[in-house]
Amino acid sequence: HLEKLKKLKGTESKTKDGIKIEINANIGNPADVDLVLENDGQGIGLFRSEFLYLESDDFPTEQAQFEAYRTVLQRMKGKRVIIRTLDLGADKTAPYFNMPREDNPAMGYRAIRICLDRKDIFKTQLRALYRASVYGKLAIMFPMITQVEEIREIKNMIEEIKLALDANGTPYADRIELGVMVETPAAALASDLLAKEVDFFSIGTNDLTQYTLAVDRMNGKIGHLYDPHNISVLRLIKLTARNAQENGIWCGICGESAADVSLTEIFLTMGVTEFSVAPAAILEMREKIQSISLSEIREEILTRL
Ligand code: PEP
Ligand code: MG
Repeated sequence: HLEKLKKLKGTESKTKDGIKIEINANIGNPADVDLVLENDGQGIGLFRSEFLYLESDDFPTEQAQFEAYRTVLQRMKGKRVIIRTLDLGADKTAPYFNMPREDNPAMGYRAIRICLDRKDIFKTQLRALYRASVYGKLAIMFPMITQVEEIREIKNMIEEIKLALDANGTPYADRIELGVMVETPAAALASDLLAKEVDFFSIGTNDLTQYTLAVDRMNGKIGHLYDPHNISVLRLIKLTARNAQENGIWCGICGESAADVSLTEIFLTMGVTEFSVAPAAILEMREKIQSISLSEIREEILTRL
């Protein structure tokens, strides 16, 4: 089977009836780009930027971040690289953050909440990203969004950063797509409003499953209840994809479900057009996409949800 998959390198990720899908890779470190290129990823759909903070003894400088982002953008040679801004929480942190212990870290001080509270940290990251944007095709997405006000605040910050860069004569790309990670039920339920603010959605099914089903994704004792196939999770994905389509933006999936080939038909039917998976799963996903004829299955699947 591996030999057969290798033959798919260089072929298109297209259904039998001609619908083009994007299959991107999730990475956690610039060195992972090797695996993305080896497996013919069309781009990077989720670059978890946390490594920069976890591998460092102090807040990573703007220059250190700029260099890491530039390396990835250059190596991807104009293919889209979606970098997710800092997603640390009380359970995944570095000592220099001095985070207090929390009873419910998953529902606590994490991700975009830290960034909008500690704007100094966030601005440093955003400046590094904008400066790196001239070296390739950068997109930026924001984790743990729960309401539209957060994205408006982020966009205001970005406008300020652009003005400061302009004042210095520092170049940045004219067009940088901005996206929301839809990984809370709140974001899915407000996806009609969020879609008017951004260029794309990327659904984080790992957290979306956790928060929708009220099942801690780290707690093995209730592991049997952690089910990304659960109808409530799928309904939120369906709603999100529909609101994306109705507002003319694209919708992808970057959680583990993206590589679950038993869900691919359902997601395509819902209007999902991008999947971001572990590099080793790219070709298997491509094989799956190439085996599907969407026009044949559409109606039957929609009636099930
Ligand atoms: C997710 O929640 O689905 C996701 C992709 O982000 P992470 O697994 O890093 O929380
Ligand atoms: Mg997540």
